[in-house]
Amino acid sequence: MKQVSRILVTGAGGFIGHHLVNRLKAEGHWVRGVDLKYPEYQASAADEFEIRDLRKWDECLMATRGSLDQVYNLAADMGGIGYITAFHAGIARNNTLINTHMLEASRQHNVGRFLFSSSACVYAQSKQKDADVAPLKEEDAFPADPEPGYGWEKLYAEELCRYYWQDYKFETRIVRFHNVYGPLGTYDGGKEKAPAAISRKIALAADGDEIEVWGDGQQTRSFMYIDDCVEGLIRLMASGFRDALNLGTDELVTIDQLVDLVSEVAGKRLTKRHNLKGPQGVRGRNSDNSLLRKVLGWEPSILLKEGLAVTYPWIQQELRAANRIKLMEHAPAA
Ligand code: NAD
Repeated sequence: MKQVSRILVTGAGGFIGHHLVNRLKAEGHWVRGVDLKYPEYQASAADEFEIRDLRKWDECLMATRGSLDQVYNLAADMGGIGYITAFHAGIARNNTLINTHMLEASRQHNVGRFLFSSSACVYAQSKQKDADVAPLKEEDAFPADPEPGYGWEKLYAEELCRYYWQDYKFETRIVRFHNVYGPLGTYDGGKEKAPAAISRKIALAADGDEIEVWGDGQQTRSFMYIDDCVEGLIRLMASGFRDALNLGTDELVTIDQLVDLVSEVAGKRLTKRHNLKGPQGVRGRNSDNSLLRKVLGWEPSILLKEGLAVTYPWIQQELRAANRIKLMEHAPAA
């Protein structure tokens, strides 16, 4: 019989945290979710869901009470490229407080294992200057030259996890996500990421319209569907691996190709208007999954077009429900 664990998911009101709670509950575990807010699009399946501000030490102590086996620390002040390039001080301060307090509170409460959610934004910017980028290996985070603000605080928190293992033998796991997307994620308001932003723009456009694309469209990224992300998280937590590990796909696409894929799913022909002043982050970024395959014996396998075929209809249906899609589009053909 499978053993039931007592698990805390912070950021359980957010995109990845919410999906992770669903999966952990489906596996029969006891789950506490904590966040500043409830999930926006679906009720949480968590056994307990507590609204707490994890920048505060006392709140972290409360969140980690009661003999927990595992903590997935997914709470963070974050957003897409527009958001993380605009707010360095706030993001760095908020996330440093969340991570340092959560780590120490978990240690004081003898939590069995603590997983920290880092990001591909820790990678040295100097190694991401070419659209035809060499996939990033874990050691490419050093010498340190990460994304300002968000990347620096993530890299610092990774180091802190290593120190907690070295000095206290506190069990930590470190995952570096590469662009996660899927249904039930933010698609509007400034914190959304490229797949969701592009899906929204395409859903709101009529066939033949023009849509704005940030940058020249030749910048490259890889994108991981949420189900692969959750699977990888659970596998990493169960593993004995304490160093940072990539979790992403190595299916590299340009942003223009991403737009074309979403247009295909939507069945619309659209013209791209490139806004060269729009934020675009590093020129190219891809995940090298050699270590991931070695450590977990597994890697994400859901193709971008498969994931978009689920994500786009969800965003479209949300926009319809909010009466934001022109009725014309649904008018039956004459
Ligand atoms: P998200 O924004 O949907 O979820 C983060 C949640 O943290 C939000 O619900 C937010 O309310 C909560 N939060 C923020 N400040 C808090 C505070 N002070 N106290 C309690 N809760 C707070 O983001 P996500 O995509 O689910 O990301 C989860 C984790 O993965 C984050 O650490 C993020 O940095 C990391 N990550 C995500 C991606 C991605 O592509 N989604 C990529 C790299 C890293």
